[in-house]
Amino acid sequence: MADLQGKIALVTGASQGIGRACALELAKAGATVALAARNEAKLAEVAAEIANAGGQAAAFALDVASEESIKAGAKAILDRFGKVEILVNNAGITRDGLMMRMKRADWDDVLGTNLTGAFLLTQALLPAMLRNRWGRIINIASVVGRTGQAGQVNYASSKAGLIGFTRSLAREVASRNVTVNAVAPGYIDTPMTAVLDEKQREVMMVQVPLGRAGTDVEIAQSVAFLASHGAAYITGHVLDVNGGMFMGG
Ligand code: NDP
Repeated sequence: MADLQGKIALVTGASQGIGRACALELAKAGATVALAARNEAKLAEVAAEIANAGGQAAAFALDVASEESIKAGAKAILDRFGKVEILVNNAGITRDGLMMRMKRADWDDVLGTNLTGAFLLTQALLPAMLRNRWGRIINIASVVGRTGQAGQVNYASSKAGLIGFTRSLAREVASRNVTVNAVAPGYIDTPMTAVLDEKQREVMMVQVPLGRAGTDVEIAQSVAFLASHGAAYITGHVLDVNGGMFMGG
């Protein structure tokens, strides 16, 4: 298991699904985890779950769609811990619809949350990470950022954007021993995908050679690996965790 004893981590969208699983996994590996999302009640539950398992966590209300909230949240986290060494940009939303019918607001909301949110939060935390000369930034992209998906021009653009962001920032900060990577999940059972009906699910499953949905824990374990000392020489990488759905370069 990854040894992250003493490291300070921040996971956005930690109130449920993949973010919650990442927070639990990083805490299990010894990190102190700042949990960020909008739903404070759910964050408190995750914090209690981590504490009950012997880990350390603290909840911070933070809306990644709001620049003010990001600034205030980042300040609160830095005031509390002094630094963030592992940043997992996981918070994300979908607003699906065909291009011809997609509203400007559906485009703006998805890009604002999934891509601009990651940009602003990373920018707020990067100075302390660079000073510290050790950092791990892990962005949760998506298989559809690699392949595209009908009905998701907004979401796929945000995820492809995150991949470009990952690779560009990786080049900028490597000299300070900060790595920047992405994990691109395929079809994972979480509240986000629970809204899909059986027919949509079947269509997805035939595209998955491993023949099943992935779990939030399987994504979290990849994130914990990229955060670990064992991943020190990996940067600018997009790790596909998708059951073989897309086998890219
Ligand atoms: P969920 O919908 O289950 O969880 C999304 C999380 O993001 C919640 O914790 C939510 O918390 C948080 N969030 C949403 N908007 C905001 C916001 N404005 N500010 C702060 N937090 C926010 O999704 P998943 O766990 O399935 O997805 C997590 C990530 O993984 C997303 O980026 C998603 O795109 C990506 N992904 C998921 C896949 C899947 O199959 N499930 C596949 C590929 C990628 P709250 O509402 O409390 O703010």
